[in-house]
This record gives sequence, C-alpha cells and structure tokens, in this order.
Amino acid sequence: MTREVFDIVIVGAGIVGLWIAKFACDRGLKVGLVEKGRCGSGGSGGLLGALLPHTPLGMNAKKRFQFDALVELPELIGAVEEQTGHNVHYRRCGRIMPIRLQSFLDTTRKNSEAARREWQGPDQSFEIDVLDSQSFGDWIDPREAPLGLFWENLSAKVSPRDLIAALRTYVARDARLFEGFTFQDFDSQTGNIGSREGRFDISTDKLIVSAGFQSFEILQSLGLDIRGDGIKGQAALYKIPNPISKLPEDCPIILDDGTYVVPQANSLLAVGSTSERQWTSEHATEPEKFEATIKRARELCPPLRNSELAELWSGIRPRSQAKDPVVGSLCPNNRIYVATGGYKISFGIAHRLARALIDEIAAGTSEIELPETYHPQP
Ligand SMILES: Cc1cc2nc3c(=O)[nH]c(=O)nc-3n(C[C@H](O)[C@H](O)[C@H](O)COP(=O)(O)OP(=O)(O)OC[C@H]3O[C@@H](n4cnc5c(N)ncnc54)[C@H](O)[C@@H]3O)c2cc1C
Repeated sequence: MTREVFDIVIVGAGIVGLWIAKFACDRGLKVGLVEKGRCGSGGSGGLLGALLPHTPLGMNAKKRFQFDALVELPELIGAVEEQTGHNVHYRRCGRIMPIRLQSFLDTTRKNSEAARREWQGPDQSFEIDVLDSQSFGDWIDPREAPLGLFWENLSAKVSPRDLIAALRTYVARDARLFEGFTFQDFDSQTGNIGSREGRFDISTDKLIVSAGFQSFEILQSLGLDIRGDGIKGQAALYKIPNPISKLPEDCPIILDDGTYVVPQANSLLAVGSTSERQWTSEHATEPEKFEATIKRARELCPPLRNSELAELWSGIRPRSQAKDPVVGSLCPNNRIYVATGGYKISFGIAHRLARALIDEIAAGTSEIELPETYHPQP
C-alpha cells in the first residue's frame, strides 16, 4: 500500500471539521478528512439548526465574534449552495421570546438600545424590539406572553443535515475523504496516523482534531492536557398536518427557557432540546426524557398541538472546561491542533473558527481574532 501524505489531516467531519476542510481546500492545501462514521454522524447531524446571537448588552469579544460570524454566514452559505447545487434552507427568520416579568421587559428595552449601537453590519443593521403578543397570529400563544414579546431579526436557521451534505460535496472535490476511518494514534515524529480499521496508510504535516466531544479523549491519549466532556441532547421534528399559510418557514424561532421551536422547510417544526449530563448511549433516543420539552413547546406554539412526531434524534454536544469552542495549537512544534464546536452555538460560528485556524496555519496570521477564552487553556 502506498502511503498518502497530506499537509493537513482533520479528524472528524462535523460542522467544524467540514468548514476547516473547506477553507484548507480553498487555500490549495492537500487535505485529508477522516471520519469514523459518515459526515455529520456526530452532534452536527441533528434537527434544530438555530443560529441565535448573544444579546448586545455588555458587548464583548465573544459576542462580537459571534455577531460578525452570523452576519457573514449567508454569503458563505450562498456560495457553497451555488457550487454544490444543495439547498440548505438558510433563512434569517428572527427570534421571539415571551415576556412575563417586568425585569425581562426592562432588559429587553436596554437590549433594544444596545442593538442600535452594536448590531451594525456592513450592509444591514439589526434590531431588537418589544412587540405585542399577538404580532405573529397563533404562532405563539399570547397567554404565554402577558407583557409582550422580545423580538430580534438577526437570528437565522438552517437545515443542519443539508448544510453538512453541501459541505461534504464541496470538500469531496479537492480533499480526500475517508469515511469509516477511526483515528487511533499519531506519531508526531513521522506524521504517521494509525486507524482502528488498519486499512489506511496516511501521514500528515499537521493534525487537527475536530472530533466533537471525543476530541478531549483523543488528545489526552496523545499525551496532551486538555479537559472537557459531552452533554447529551434530544431534539425532534414534528409534521404539521394542515399547514396554515405563512407557516412554518416564515415564522421566527421561539425560545423560552431552553425550549426551542424552529420552523423548518416542508411544514416541519423542530423542537428541542434536553440536556442530559448522565448518559450511556450517544444515539439511543429516550422518548420519556423528551416529554417535558414537547409539552412545553405545545403550550407555547399552538400549531404544534395537532402535529405528529416525524423523528426523535439524540446527539452529544462538546463541552470544554470554559464551555466555549476550543481552537488552536496544542504543542510547541505546531503539529497538533484542536478545533471543537461550542456547546450550543456551533452552526453560527464554525465557519469563522475554521477560517481563523486555517489562516493561522497557512499564513501564520489571520484578520480574525479569536476570543481569548477560545484558546486552549493549559
Ligand atoms: C439536541 C442538540 C441540539 C442542538 N442544537 C443546536 C442548534 O440549534 N444550533 C447550534 O448551533 N448548535 C446546536 N447544537 C450543538 C451542535 O450540534 C454541536 O455543538 C456541534 O455539532 C459540534 O460540532 P463538532 O464538529 O465540534 O462535533 P461533531 O458534530 O460531534 O463532529 C465530530 C465528528 O468526529 C467524529 N469522530 C469522533 N471520534 C473520531 C475518531 N476517533 N476518528 C474519526 N472520527 C471521529 C464523529 O463521528 C463526528 O462526526 C445542538 C446539539 C444537540 C445535541
């Protein structure tokens, strides 16, 4: 077997690994992407696809990074769609949250002022406002929002699986994609990579571990000191039997205390999510643990009340010690890098993390500054 040699091998084809592969290919690097299952078979293969910003009050480096990422995303997605022929169902649909407390109403008004200052994109500014609880018809039950609705127009949604499929098509043109390749070890002298399957003979100059929650275990096995774990989550898709006009794709995402309702294409509504610290199986769904979430979602969103379950899904979110994404070099000779997604916000920022990392590797510098807490902590 002839050994294949790469500039970069990325371990893990989730949303983060695929964007890294995309930018590395765009730079003309020789890229290998190894994935133990199929692309998107980890936490990125889910159903929600909510792209929600932090609120602008107390703007800081982290909030600014995420704002810039959300503003630039539609153009990047548009280019990937054009080149691959995939429709990823991106839509800037906005978000609403019911207001029940005077304190939340006051904060919303402050956020509205802060948005006027801080949410200025290059071509568009974004707003936060307090709207009447009936502004979206029966999309949200007005009894849930006695003091009105927090509304903003920066949030967006995407179909996670369609975006993964589009990026897979994009990178498969120039990168070598190894699905069914379980990374096992890396010899940092020779650059040789071992796989559990033993079927492949590859080596690389740089290794980027982007294996979601499993990144921590992999990097520890390479003798690196990095800590984090995985939090399981379940989400579901519901089909609305008689779609009312304008529903569901044009409606804003509903968020209320950890319960999300995300309008998706084809009269489907995505509902999430549970947060389960104790879990044994990554992919086993447990409907009884999802009951409280769907009950709450149906109280909030009347169109869900007559809907039927189309799919229940579970996945594991990576969670670093700082609960942020972790991106950067992990050893003095700059051969091993980490790039894991954030706990809940990865789909809105993965492309920007990826571009910062590839700029750094390929050119030694990037115009994108990663927030301090995203750097690997010793
Ligand atoms: C229920 C739920 C709802 C969510 N909702 C949202 C949302 O609405 N918006 C949002 O932005 N985020 C959301 N998230 C979070 C988001 O899905 C994750 O943060 C994101 O998918 C992490 O991406 P990743 O690329 O870092 O990891 P992953 O997608 O997990 O990718 C890692 C990949 O590495 C592979 N891998 C692991 N070990 C190896 C190995 N040894 N060899 C080769 N390959 C390996 C895995 O198979 C996997 O495909 C949600 C997560 C869950 C669970």
